[in-house]
Amino acid sequence: MNRTPLIAGNWKMYKTVSEALTWVKAVLPYLPNPDETEVAVAPPFTALYPLAEFLKESHLKLAAQDVFWEKEGAYTGEVSPTMLKDIGCEYVIIGHSERRQYFGETDEIVAKKVKAAFTYGLKPILCIGERLEEREKGETFSVVKRQLFKALTDIEKIDTLVIAYEPVWAIGTGKTALPAQAQEVHAYLRQLIAEKWGENANNIRILYGGSVKPENIKALMAEDDIDGVLVGGASLIADSFIKIMCYGVR
Ligand code: PEP
Repeated sequence: MNRTPLIAGNWKMYKTVSEALTWVKAVLPYLPNPDETEVAVAPPFTALYPLAEFLKESHLKLAAQDVFWEKEGAYTGEVSPTMLKDIGCEYVIIGHSERRQYFGETDEIVAKKVKAAFTYGLKPILCIGERLEEREKGETFSVVKRQLFKALTDIEKIDTLVIAYEPVWAIGTGKTALPAQAQEVHAYLRQLIAEKWGENANNIRILYGGSVKPENIKALMAEDDIDGVLVGGASLIADSFIKIMCYGVR
């Protein structure tokens, strides 16, 4: 089993370039040993390149918040996987619930983006998760199963895949899933991966996302199948992100 925990911050549509650099300068001195914990941040597109230049010698990894599926072409407003790769971006968040909810991203679009990420050497952080009404109707497992398998249609090799289980009712709401509730879904996802992709399942990292804070990180990370977290709101403040990447110890 080889699952170095990954702590990733998703800044959403926050921070100018100078604010991004201030954050990075505050966080870098506290980066954990990369053999023990990997850390990544997903700034808005405008801050990716300046951060990539600044972070050249650092272990702090960069993620994009989205990507288009074509390499190039007449697609006004879009950013391609090769452009992200070119500036040193390693990860890309795909299928975040905000993109599904506000920008009409379907499972089919998510699948195209995941495929493109693999094709061009970016590591996808695939976000899946049920809405509150789906959980209340007992549909959590069927929803995440559909999202997972549709996103990975035709993908045979998933070695670099990262999954983020993000129950929509927990994103930005302050309501965190109980560690045991998240663990139950993570274990289910790992079982699904094992059924389809075999022994790879033990090496695939499954992150939890949804109102992660310094106060709950330790309990979440104590669960067997939680291999890290995707943090939105609490990643914006350097001090709270530092606490999260140190598992609440600082
Ligand atoms: C996210 O944006 O992926 C997220 C989990 O947000 P928050 O931590 O604010 O709930």
